Amino acid sequence: MPYDIAVVGGGPAGLSAAINARARNKSVLVVSNDYRESPLYRAKQVDNYLGMPGQSGAALLDAFYRHAEETGTVFRTGRVLNILPLDSTYCLSIGTEVEEARAVILCTGVSQGKKFPGEAAFLGRGVSYCATCDGMLYRSRPVAVVGLAPDAPEEANFLQGLGCRVTYVSGRRPEGLDPAISWVKAGRLEIVGEEAVTALRVNGTDTPAEGVFLLRHAVPPTDLLPGLTLEGGYVAVDREGRTSLPGVFAAGDCTGLPLQLAKAAGEGLVAGQRAAEYVDQLSDSEKIDSIKKGE
Ligand SMILES: Cc1cc2nc3c(=O)[nH]c(=O)nc-3n(C[C@H](O)[C@H](O)[C@H](O)COP(=O)(O)OP(=O)(O)OC[C@H]3O[C@@H](n4cnc5c(N)ncnc54)[C@H](O)[C@@H]3O)c2cc1C
Repeated sequence: MPYDIAVVGGGPAGLSAAINARARNKSVLVVSNDYRESPLYRAKQVDNYLGMPGQSGAALLDAFYRHAEETGTVFRTGRVLNILPLDSTYCLSIGTEVEEARAVILCTGVSQGKKFPGEAAFLGRGVSYCATCDGMLYRSRPVAVVGLAPDAPEEANFLQGLGCRVTYVSGRRPEGLDPAISWVKAGRLEIVGEEAVTALRVNGTDTPAEGVFLLRHAVPPTDLLPGLTLEGGYVAVDREGRTSLPGVFAAGDCTGLPLQLAKAAGEGLVAGQRAAEYVDQLSDSEKIDSIKKGE
């Protein structure tokens, strides 16, 4: 059975969307990196959230998460890599696994950093965003892992365990990295090759690699769902949180300025309610269709 609604991102927008869709009795799955990875968690003091001045971002997020949990929201920790439209549902890839939902609410925040040179050109020809999905393709080959997310050392260890020859590239030497993995300090990065990737160039020096794993927190919404219309680099939505794709809504920082908590929570409410209505309409039209067919 598909979920009624899948929310991508467990920051304030996603959690607000979840509780408001649950209030309309919809089954809701939130797929997210650990909610403590929301940028808000780093805010020492938030003074502009109505009625609750002086709270830390961490205290607010803990409370938001508990609230969503109490409503019966289902949580799944992981990074959504791709969303595929099926007949009347969407299929979300999370690593090597999938989940299905009738409507999707994108609450991914803002993805930091631009693409690296060569990233788009070599995507699928050596560039990967998922070690668990693509690791086996590079057994006994040299690969580079660019660690931009907290779980990246674990993924690098997984690749090393598969038999890949891993070089880990990051700003600081990470904790918990398999001692057999060599570490290179990140600098200016470029992915180079001909037909396929041959190396990761770090500050002009090539580290041989047939696979380059770019492990980031977030995936830009247009990479998640090709065909999504953007406006000024943000997901374009109407006042109801509808995107350019049917059954896909968006809320929070990913829809544009101001990048603020109250706007994220408010847009989450709107998107949660509208997505619930969309699911109801879908169910009604499916019932009418089956009556017409005499089922
Ligand atoms: C230091 C700091 C201080 C701030 N102080 C204030 C303040 O005082 N007042 C105020 O109003 N605002 C403040 N903000 C801004 C506020 O944090 C944001 O506006 C708010 O967090 C946006 O919420 P969101 O849910 O849209 O996105 P986010 O909070 O960014 O949450 C998005 C979540 O989705 C996850 N995610 C993204 N892509 C994927 C994917 N593909 N799969 C799975 N998970 C994914 C991310 O890891 C993240 O956990 C501050 C921000 C920072 C960084």
